[in-house]
Order: sequence, then C-alpha cells, then structure tokens
Amino acid sequence: MTTPVSPEPGRRALSMIGPDFPFPYDDYRLSPAGLGSVPASAFGTEVAVVGGGLAGIITAYELMRMGLRPVVYEPEQIGGRMRSAEFEGFPGTVAELGAMRFPLSSTTLHSYLAAMGLPTRPFANPLATDTPSTVIDLKGNPLYARNLDDLPPEFRLVAQAWGQALEDGANLGALTSALRARDPLRIKAIWNDLVRRLDDHTFYHFLADSPHFRSFADRELFGQVGFGTGGWDTDFPNSILEVLRIVATGADEDQHLVIGGCQQLPLRLWSHQPDALAGWPAGTSLQALHAGSPRPGVTALRRTHSGITVTDAAGAIRTYPAVVYAAPIWLLLNNIECDESLFSSALWTSIERTHYMGSSKVFVLVDRPFWRDQDPATGRDTMSITLTDRMSRGTYLFDDGPDRPAVICLSYTWADDSLKLLPLSATERMDLMLHSLGEIYPGVDIRSHIIASPITVSWEMERNFMGAFKANLPGHYRYQEQLFGHFMQDQMPDAHRGIFLAGDDISWTAAWAEGAVQSALNAVWGVQHHFGGVCDPDNLGPGDRFAEFAPIRLPDIL
Ligand SMILES: Cc1cc2nc3c(=O)[nH]c(=O)nc-3n(C[C@H](O)[C@H](O)[C@H](O)COP(=O)(O)OP(=O)(O)OC[C@H]3O[C@@H](n4cnc5c(N)ncnc54)[C@H](O)[C@@H]3O)c2cc1C
Repeated sequence: MTTPVSPEPGRRALSMIGPDFPFPYDDYRLSPAGLGSVPASAFGTEVAVVGGGLAGIITAYELMRMGLRPVVYEPEQIGGRMRSAEFEGFPGTVAELGAMRFPLSSTTLHSYLAAMGLPTRPFANPLATDTPSTVIDLKGNPLYARNLDDLPPEFRLVAQAWGQALEDGANLGALTSALRARDPLRIKAIWNDLVRRLDDHTFYHFLADSPHFRSFADRELFGQVGFGTGGWDTDFPNSILEVLRIVATGADEDQHLVIGGCQQLPLRLWSHQPDALAGWPAGTSLQALHAGSPRPGVTALRRTHSGITVTDAAGAIRTYPAVVYAAPIWLLLNNIECDESLFSSALWTSIERTHYMGSSKVFVLVDRPFWRDQDPATGRDTMSITLTDRMSRGTYLFDDGPDRPAVICLSYTWADDSLKLLPLSATERMDLMLHSLGEIYPGVDIRSHIIASPITVSWEMERNFMGAFKANLPGHYRYQEQLFGHFMQDQMPDAHRGIFLAGDDISWTAAWAEGAVQSALNAVWGVQHHFGGVCDPDNLGPGDRFAEFAPIRLPDIL
C-alpha cells in the first residue's frame, strides 16, 4: 500500500534529502563547480578507505578526483551490500542479495547511476502500477489482485487509516510539502517537533496510539501487508522516526531496479577514468591506482604519533594522515583491533548502541517466467508477487523476456523472520519456501522449473557485515546525531581528528543506499577540510553549510 502523499505539480520531485539534515546533496554533486579542491601540496597524499562498499568506493572515487590517493581496503568483493550474485553455470543471471530496489527519490544515488551509464526500470513491488498481479495470503486465505481495488474493503480502509495516522500523528502532508519545496526552515519546524515528541516511541506504539488503528485486527493486517514494499511488522519495535523518514521522503514509492544488477555501480566507479581529475594524468582510475585489487581487510587501527596506522590481513602496516572508515561499525568492536583513543567515549557509546536488523534472501533460477502464463479458466497469472504470513513472507519475480531463464526471490525476510532460517542450508531453505508457496499455489509445480542450485544469504551470519542494516530503536536519536555529525571535526581535540566515518550506519536513512552515498560525500568534505581544501563558493559542501542544516541536538547528552 502506498502512502497518500499527493503530488504537487510544478514542485521539485521529492528526494531522500532531509529531514534531519536537508543539505542538497544531489545539487552539490551535479554542480559544474565540482566538489572543491585540496591544495596542490596535498596531491598524491594517501588516504586509507576502509571498506569497498558503495560508501567506500564513492569516497575513494571523489578523493581521487580531488588529487588525493585513496587506498581502499576490502576483504571480500567490491560492492559490499550492493551484491549481485550469478547462478552457477549461468553467467549474466542476477540475484540481488542486498540492495535491490532504489526509489527515484534517491536522487544522489541515481545521479551516480546515470553518470556510470547504468539504466534502471520500475521494480515490481506488491500492488505497484507496473506489477502485473499480487497475491496476499493471510491466515490461509490467498487473495489475487491487480491493484488495491481488487482486494476486500478492509485493505483499503487500513491503507486510509495509515494515511490518516501519518497526517494526524506526524503532520506528514506539511512535512512532505516542505521537503519537496526544500525549505529548511519549514522542514526544521515540523521535523524537530516530531523528533522531540516521538524519539521515545516505537512504530507499533505510534499505530496503537492512533485513533485510526484502535483495532488489533487492523494493526495486524497493516503489519502483514505494510505500505509500498511489503510487510512491515518486523519494523514494529523500531523507532517511529525511522519509518517517518522513509514515508516523508518517498523512499517507499517509485522504486527501480538496476538492469544487470546494482553491484555494477561500485564496480564501474572502481574502473572509471573520470574526465575531470586534479593532480592525476588522464586515464587514472581507482583500479589503476591499486594495480587491480584493493588491499586486504583491515585488522587493526591505531593512533600513532604521525597519524592513523592501519594493519591489514596480509600483515602490512601503513600510517596515513587521514582514514575514512566505511565498513559496518560493529566491526570496530569485535573484528578490528582499535585504540580507544580513536574516538571520544561518547562516540564509542553511539557505536555500541547501534542496532542492526538481520535479513535473509533465498533465490532460485527457473527455465522461463512461467508465472506469466495465464490460467485459461480464471484469466489469472500462474503466480504473482506474493506477500504471506507463512515462512516465505515476500516472494518477488524477475524476468528479462518470455523465453529466457528468470529469477525468483522465493523469500525475503527481516529480523525474527530471518532468524528462523539461520540454521538451515540453502537447499533446506528452498524446500521450506517451496512448501509455503505450494500451499498458496497448489496447482503450480515451481520445482520442475528450477535449473540451478539455490542461492541464499543471511547478512547477520556474514563476518564482515554482522547484520543487514542499522535500524534505530526508540531513544537512539542522540546516538545517530553523534555518528552523523562526526565528520565535523574542528571542535574536536587533535587526538580525535583524522578518522572519518561513512556508510549505512552513519546515515539518517540506513537500509537505503542513498544514505550511504550522502554519508560518503560528508566524509569527502571532512577529508578535504582536514587537508586545508575548500569548496567552490558557488557550491558549498555539507560541512560549509552544517550550521544552517544541523540536526537538532536533544538534551541530556553526555
Ligand atoms: C538485504 C538488504 C536489502 C537492502 N535493500 C536495499 C534496497 O532495496 N534499496 C536500497 O537503496 N538499499 C538497500 N539496502 C541497503 C544498501 O545495500 C546499503 O545502504 C549500502 O549498500 C551500504 O553501503 P556501505 O558502503 O555503507 O556498506 P557495505 O556495503 O556494507 O560496505 C562495507 C564494506 O566494508 C567491508 N569490510 C568489512 N570488514 C572490513 C575490514 N576489516 N576491512 C576493510 N573492509 C571491511 C565489507 O566487506 C563491505 O564490502 C539493503 C541492504 C541489505 C543488506
């Protein structure tokens, strides 16, 4: 179900910029003035970038364009949670193990996709306009629908109740309108009030407290079907502010997939030879600067008299005047040996309090998109995008034409629903999901179409990730504010400067690649400033305009 955010003709398209820090990252990135410069004396200076996910690669790419020499450390694949896996024996097939749908409101991210020549197309979400059909199966009762109007009235009523709860409880229409107008004063007036009022509340409390969700049955139905992208009851324990950021910025609407897989974005940035490049000869790329591959994973980070000293898994020890840490921050607690003096004790607390959601996906490759065959008796598709309260929860269908192998994401789960799968092998997971779907589609033999071994992931089991993405709990706003603002280092004692945080955990919109991109641009600004660099006066950066847009600071922070 989509939220009732009414379009306002003539206004700028909604973007994932704000509401906490409504700096126009998309305009900044696209400005012909560029992101600014560092003094020529700094050209060629090495900066360590820990993590070759999207945030790390964008940081490295932009630092290279300024003339610095990024040194990327990555223990696995370039791309991190932008991971597009191929089925064994079937090159070119794509199972999006991490990110898979990118709202058009991810405007900064989409600007990088466009710059790298990567086309996108609408993602087939449940009940979305471009989705041929959806099946919603709750309590053993599968319902077939081409749009919301095909479902029984209670679904429409719950969708309306959600819209009203957002309007009455969170002033959503006014907030969205201020975000669309990019009016920081209006945004701040509304959002800061919501932060003060709602930081202590869960998503579930917000619903239960609303006169529009008095009925438990309505809350249950809403939790199963959710809005926009699928069931949201696994988010019920999270802070309502996390959910409001998504709906206010249109992140749950108009989502696209990247044709050929989203991992292409970090991979293309890695090999791209930018035209505009300071301090380096034409033809320079990250790949060329690294002789092909990043350095291995980091095992220790220490503060030494000449900078920050990085040890890697091959035993190499190098000291840098600046480091960008763009790997999941829990790894600083248990995977990477760290000096406590790297950060203030308040920042360590914020790192420790970070909360991750788990997530699992199970994919199979089939001979062709058989689900598009219509049952001559009913005129219905053989199979549809499926939301269910059974173990599979969300099933998504991907195809590139009628006679080619096609991909089914049999199951996409979060939090407790993902934990239920942890002990199971890929084959056991596939069998379980085929059993669930067999109950919903009794006449369809999905198994007979499968042509490759299943692929699965549980991000909470992955040593270099430890979770799928951050999701703040009630009372976590203060920690997030500390993490996000860490790139502003002028007021810090010297002993804490020189290491910059970036990535999903640092952003206001974790679980969305746009936030990782925005956090990378903050880190780039932080490093540039650290080396005495400046932005063009016509294109000031996030740090130059920090005071103007700064997230509200709540009281009682140590
Ligand atoms: C299941 C799932 C679904 C998602 N769906 C969407 C979606 O539909 N749309 C969307 O926009 N976003 C989605 N996201 C979020 C998106 O994938 C992330 O926001 C983004 O990819 C994060 O990029 P990052 O660079 O911050 O982190 P990562 O991609 O995690 O990169 C961090 C890198 O650090 C590396 N690393 C780990 N340890 C070390 C070490 N010791 N030394 C050096 N490097 C190390 C890791 O290997 C990794 O490559 C999803 C994520 C997941 C997991």
